[in-house]
Amino acid sequence: MSDLKTIGSVQAALKEGSLKASDLVSENLRTIEEGSGLNAFRETFNEHAHEQAAESDKRVAIGEMRPLEGVTFGIKDCILVNGEESRASSKILEGHRAVYDATAVARLREAGAIFVGTTNMDEFAMGSSSQTCAYGVVKNPLDKTRVPGGSSGGSAASVAANMSVAALGSDTAGSIRLPASFCGAIGFKGTYGSVSRYGLMAMASSLDHIGPITNSVSDAEAIFGVISGKDRYDSTSQEFELRHSDGVTKDDITVGIVSDLDLSGLAPDVIANYEAALAKIKELGYKTKEIKLPNLSYSVPCYYVIMPAEVSSNLARYDGVRYGKRESGGSMLGDYMETRHSGFGDEARRRIVLGTYVLSSGYYDAYYYKAIKVRELIRQDFRNAFNEVDAIVMPTTADTAFKIGEKMDDPVKMYLEDVFTVPADHVGVPALSVPSGTVNREGTDLPLSVQFMSPHFREDIAFRLGKDFNGE
Ligand code: GLN
Repeated sequence: MSDLKTIGSVQAALKEGSLKASDLVSENLRTIEEGSGLNAFRETFNEHAHEQAAESDKRVAIGEMRPLEGVTFGIKDCILVNGEESRASSKILEGHRAVYDATAVARLREAGAIFVGTTNMDEFAMGSSSQTCAYGVVKNPLDKTRVPGGSSGGSAASVAANMSVAALGSDTAGSIRLPASFCGAIGFKGTYGSVSRYGLMAMASSLDHIGPITNSVSDAEAIFGVISGKDRYDSTSQEFELRHSDGVTKDDITVGIVSDLDLSGLAPDVIANYEAALAKIKELGYKTKEIKLPNLSYSVPCYYVIMPAEVSSNLARYDGVRYGKRESGGSMLGDYMETRHSGFGDEARRRIVLGTYVLSSGYYDAYYYKAIKVRELIRQDFRNAFNEVDAIVMPTTADTAFKIGEKMDDPVKMYLEDVFTVPADHVGVPALSVPSGTVNREGTDLPLSVQFMSPHFREDIAFRLGKDFNGE
């Protein structure tokens, strides 16, 4: 069954009768069990997954397959699955059980998808390596001494290690694309507002996106088609015309190459990989044009003001009363302080403190308000660029997956992992990460990726490029 890595291959096997959805679920659960050392899953949904599989097998038998019939998913632990525990890999949500499906999950369910379990992540999606997870570090299936990337590291590891056909992740500064890249998978987030955030535990609401991690670009596109669209439960979700990549050709697309991109900190083989990717885009017959994004270098500093500000207010709801864990502190304030003290990990606390600071009176104008203005400059850079080109290409990450333990005592170094991914979150444009080959690190070939960004609601362009670049 190890060749059943895509929606197409699973559904072909279901149709011809060589596969039962229930066997695929058993196989996935066995792989998760055998690979438990990777710590990709916080919990598996054995019984419910088999119930969903039985329903799929019935549908296949009567020839009524839904678009994602029998396709197995790992769901990031911050996206609600009705009836299951959702903890955002935090101790503060121990015992918290979802009482409804996130809209993206409900749409997958309706389309016939099967949920095998909830995947480990950085606590509340804060991190780039899945090392801030309260339930242990997640390991990279390609090299167990290395991180899978974060924060959706469990979702990426699941797809890369054949524990599920696909997975859902969330991306606030790159948390879908970065782990997808570190694990050699495809990662995608659409336009801000194209996929409802209802049922996604809010990290930084103006930047949060839900999207798929898959083994093929076609799968990412198919899943995006299912989960996207207006939702009355999320007022920032948008009505838009879903365009398919089959409707555009390379002749319609000029790819922007960022001439002022700062590659100074990158290793020579990483730069060579990126240059080879640019050459491949030209060889594929795409027109290219140099563009400038002069404010790009402010993306990370600007993010690390806006995000903590939003995090500090979003995480205020975990008060020991409404959700999950409750510690007694002898008084109402005491309960609150004890619960939050013992429930949140170091990184979550660091960001709450930072966020409260930048929002406090006297500092609001100096930090938060300024960062909002800088974000507008970055958005203007992209608007200018998209007047000249139809897509922008960039590396996804500055290097390969790094060693477990690395960068944990240097938060600023860790924050710089987002340097190429965070701009698309600030601007809210689609971004698709696809593997661009490997480089060798200590005897192991490790993947790198490039990402294709396209104008708002032109996901079709990113998918067209991704399919041509990746071959499917
Ligand atoms: N590295 C980013 C952070 O730590 C990732 C956030 C995300 O995309 N969820 O905030």
